[in-house]
Amino acid sequence: MEAVKNKKRDRTGEQYGEFEIIGPTGNESEWIARCSCGKERIVKNKNMSKLTHCNSCAAKLRMKKRTAKPKKPKKDKFTEMKNWMKPKKPKLENDVLYEIEDDRFFRPVVGELINEYGNSASFKIVKCHDADAKIARSWNHRINVKKECVTKIE
Ligand SMILES: [Zn+2]
Repeated sequence: MEAVKNKKRDRTGEQYGEFEIIGPTGNESEWIARCSCGKERIVKNKNMSKLTHCNSCAAKLRMKKRTAKPKKPKKDKFTEMKNWMKPKKPKLENDVLYEIEDDRFFRPVVGELINEYGNSASFKIVKCHDADAKIARSWNHRINVKKECVTKIE
């Protein structure tokens, strides 16, 4: 009776958290436990039920938790920044008049938008100073200018 009661239960193969009991030690109250990552440790019978994972796995998990969270807002901030840095192309409107300042004219001319491109646009010259009339005519009253040269006339 006494012998049976004190007989060491074979815990080999039992699973505790990430640990598997892989075998006995020389000590009856201690076992060799192996974490799923391969790390082995000695565990006492009374501590066996508290096993979760080894220290290095626990550290990795903590690291993951710490880095996983701020990762997303970081990325959002980056795209936000990219949006700020992206130059905003001025959007021109039809059916409004623009004052066009161009070196080719003596005075600013007034034009209507014909076509809009990336950074430039073509305009129909609807009004210009007498001094520029000839040159405007020679271009068939069309001019292509950089958008930064035009101002909407309110
Ligand atoms: Zn581990």
